[in-house]
Amino acid sequence: MVETGAIAGAPSVTTTSAATLTGSSTAALEVVDLVKDYPIASGWHRAVDGITFAVEPGHFYTLLGPSGCGKTTTLRCVAGLERPDRGRISLAGQDVARGKDVVPPERRDIGMVFQNYAIWPHMTVFENVAFPLRVGRTKVRKPELVQRVDEALDLVQLTGYASRPATQLSGGQQQRLALARALIRRPSLLLLDEPLSNLDARLRDRMRSEIRTLQRRLGITTLFVTHDQVEALSMSNRIAVMDGGHIVQEGTPREIYQHPATRFVAGFVGSSNFLAGTVAGPGSDGRMRLRIGDGEIEAACPDGTATGDPVTVSVRPENVAVHAERPAVGNVVAGTVGQVLFVGEAVDATIDVAGVRIVAHLHPSVQVVRDMAVWVELPAEDCTVIHDDHGLASGTGSAADAPTGEDMYPN
Ligand code: ADP
Ligand code: MG
Repeated sequence: MVETGAIAGAPSVTTTSAATLTGSSTAALEVVDLVKDYPIASGWHRAVDGITFAVEPGHFYTLLGPSGCGKTTTLRCVAGLERPDRGRISLAGQDVARGKDVVPPERRDIGMVFQNYAIWPHMTVFENVAFPLRVGRTKVRKPELVQRVDEALDLVQLTGYASRPATQLSGGQQQRLALARALIRRPSLLLLDEPLSNLDARLRDRMRSEIRTLQRRLGITTLFVTHDQVEALSMSNRIAVMDGGHIVQEGTPREIYQHPATRFVAGFVGSSNFLAGTVAGPGSDGRMRLRIGDGEIEAACPDGTATGDPVTVSVRPENVAVHAERPAVGNVVAGTVGQVLFVGEAVDATIDVAGVRIVAHLHPSVQVVRDMAVWVELPAEDCTVIHDDHGLASGTGSAADAPTGEDMYPN
């Protein structure tokens, strides 16, 4: 296995002689219009199709998307393990890739944890961690080498394991070892490719918070890749949701969750009700009246939406409220309770609203039984009117007011 060692031992593509090309941004990482094609039997497959994003210094930034959407390819282009077909990548304002002109991986100040960890089985823990320093361009003397390996093992709570064969570590310990090896050169950018996906559920929860705590303590800018929405929402300052080689939405976890831009995002990140409706006319506060089944609600719509247009309204199950008596104000429609599922901390009820099935995630104290006639409230601020394709979301009101990732994760 060659492709490992915090980039250090990785095969490099043919490269430019300059350590860096020129550049201009203050972001820790900037990716502009990145395209990567792979040759396949029938021609070329575009794995990454013109993506653009920037990561602020010290931020934890996540690429979230289903398998095959281009996450790993993007990470490998940033690391220098793949040569882009188009676009620009810069680290701390210095270009490391401009089109096919690239700086080799060992000259990029980057540490990477691969999805399979890529740990060398024939080496001890110490030798695995020390490897990037041994092959580095600047030679590190033995006493410093030992001290830095000790420090790195200490960071990931593997103190005392140095002499152990790497194969004798548990899954969680191997994951920590890969992290120590990625950090040993004190890189300014850390790349993590689905580092938690090989762990069992409990260990995954623990490592999630360990990694985020360590990242915050070191202040190291991190680009994280996952297909797991819970990891993305709970760990990130910002998230780019990817689908089919594109970024379909970018924002704080709260923005992505509360105001999904497309049906794909609303369905992939959490679950959502999708209600088909028609625009009935202008409503209050700049919103529009939408006819859903027999009922009518109001919601903010994308610019240019006109009376008579078909629309899809996305509402999260936890935002649906159910009342026995009709509330005086608000977006309220009449419905009939269908299936009621008591799941301990909540009651999941399906409610039929003029032939449209709405799922409501309710507090267990809410009394609902099958066939009960109820009033379903869909708060206007929680209704996102979306396009079915990769169009833009409506400028719904409250995203800007909501706490941002920065509030949750001060750096
Ligand atoms: P992800 O990490 O999001 O699962 P990848 O970046 O690994 O996705 O892959 C994106 C797309 O590119 C997929 O369709 C995948 O099959 C294809 N792909 C990845 N690597 C290669 C390769 N070396 N050769 C051909 N196709 C590839
Ligand atoms: Mg991948």
